[in-house]
Amino acid sequence: MQELIRQEQIINDIVTQIGRHKIQNASKVKFKVGRLTNITEKVLLDLFIKAVGPKNLQPEMAIEIEWMPAKLKCNHCQNLVESAYVCPACQSEDLKVISGEEFFIENVYY
Ligand SMILES: [Zn+2]
Repeated sequence: MQELIRQEQIINDIVTQIGRHKIQNASKVKFKVGRLTNITEKVLLDLFIKAVGPKNLQPEMAIEIEWMPAKLKCNHCQNLVESAYVCPACQSEDLKVISGEEFFIENVYY
């Protein structure tokens, strides 16, 4: 059921989102990342630097991540489920992701 977001796709996403900001002048970049993306802070930082290019960043630039909790809804009994692959109420595996797959730059600080 869960599909991991591929790193290549994330790099493309970052590059697209970077195009809308002046990242090279940024002192801090804030990301919103869903728990279901399976990204760690280190991986995100590596991918970000790879996408932007290390020479295009301020040396002191910081990254902040706001983690979005996983939220799923059981298609069988409508129960709301957090971070589980099986509905605790009815044991159904038919869960719909409501949130937790987010991945975007929320804010850029200069
Ligand atoms: Zn259920």
